[in-house]
Amino acid sequence: MGIAESAAESETVSTDAAGSETGGAENAGPETAGPENAGSEAAARRDDSVRAAVEQGLIGPDAPIIGLLDSTGIRAAAAALRAAFAQVTTAPVRHTFAVKATPLVPVLRLLHTEGIGAEVASPGELALAQAAGVPPTRTVLDSPAKTPAELRQALALGIAVNADNPQELARIDTLVSSAPTRSPIGLRVNPQIGGGSIDALSTATSTSKFGVALRDAGAREWVVRAYADRPWLTRLHTHTGSQGIPLDLLAEGVRAAYELAEEINARVGRQQIDTVDIGGGLPVNFASDATSPTHADYARILKQRVPGLFDGRYGLVTEFGRSLLAKHGTVLARVEYTKQSGGRPIAITHAGVQIATRTVYQPESWPLRILAYDAKGHPKPGPTVPQDVAGPACFAGDLLAENRPLARLEPGDLVAVPDTGAYYFAHHYAYNSLARPGIYGFAYAPGAGTRFATVRTPQTLDELVAESGGAHGGALA
Ligand SMILES: *Cc1c(COP(=O)(O)O)cnc(C)c1O
Repeated sequence: MGIAESAAESETVSTDAAGSETGGAENAGPETAGPENAGSEAAARRDDSVRAAVEQGLIGPDAPIIGLLDSTGIRAAAAALRAAFAQVTTAPVRHTFAVKATPLVPVLRLLHTEGIGAEVASPGELALAQAAGVPPTRTVLDSPAKTPAELRQALALGIAVNADNPQELARIDTLVSSAPTRSPIGLRVNPQIGGGSIDALSTATSTSKFGVALRDAGAREWVVRAYADRPWLTRLHTHTGSQGIPLDLLAEGVRAAYELAEEINARVGRQQIDTVDIGGGLPVNFASDATSPTHADYARILKQRVPGLFDGRYGLVTEFGRSLLAKHGTVLARVEYTKQSGGRPIAITHAGVQIATRTVYQPESWPLRILAYDAKGHPKPGPTVPQDVAGPACFAGDLLAENRPLARLEPGDLVAVPDTGAYYFAHHYAYNSLARPGIYGFAYAPGAGTRFATVRTPQTLDELVAESGGAHGGALA
């Protein structure tokens, strides 16, 4: 743990991570895992895990795709997040993990043991957090479509709730007046400061569906009065967006929330808002193994830009997802066949749209690196050749990479797709009834080598049939 932790601490904004927000992966290949890289220890652990997965039979002809999670890296990321905010404030900080990023119970349990709670946005995500043992006091409920039953349950359990809109706040009024609750309750606001490079992930645009749109006519005054009328409304929440939002814009959103909290507290004449929930959204570098920007970079920028939020008067809640998990997951898939088409080499692998849905449908926004390994799990040396890396699904666009320079792939080789620990292999898309792959956590034990633990068993064909109406075969006859 010591080694991994210091590695995470020393990862700074680095050299070869420069370039566009998400771009750069076009030129990335196995060589980016070189020792000059800040993430070289993580890359070495990944190489070990690929070789061990072959040797221990986790991947092979009968299990041609798996997901791998680096538990050492996850622990180090959690520790680095806690340290980052401990550096900038003495007030209490409740870190939660946005469950939607990696909805896997063992991941939530590991993060919980590392002091990170859960941000949930559906009954399913709450059930996962509960199954992982995350207590209500470390859970935040944020969805934009909470039903009365969900609200009642959350308030009964004492889970923190952020109301999304005036109608929801009215429902909460009724519940709060009918039964006492220990839940801290807040309101989500949209500072309407604009979007980032990915529209679908920009939540602070002028017409976003999230929160109370603060710059709409009369909205700010309505919000101030909503707090003045409700002494139990003690939190304020904003989440500016995810991947593709520049740090400056994230900080702008947090500053808007802070200024509103100050205005409300001044108007009511006391520190009614005692906690600001700053959401998540730290972008991830998909172009190399470097962690850039780091949570420490972000915490420093926030303190510079919004010093009053860090002078000890306000508790904080954070809700990071992608930035905690993305770099600690790898898809590993076998090359089934190779062919040429129109003169271009194509490797048909088992990793496609079912595990990299966003990349396949929007490759410009979501480029991923591809690393080539031989059939024994050793990094594949040799001159590179531009190749298409295709998935198993039956549509022409099922490509993880086009014209990517890689060592020439052959049947039985492996391709690894790093940085897929968030919003990828845990977000199975059931196209072609491709089964959900198994997911395995790994850690290195001195003397024992790389050891694996099952995080999610591979879906069986019986389960697949059952999920597809197998028990109701005659329903339409
Ligand atoms: C998705 C989401 C997050 C996490 O976003 P990341 O980009 O994964 O850090 C946090 N808070 C809310 C409200 C979200 O919707």
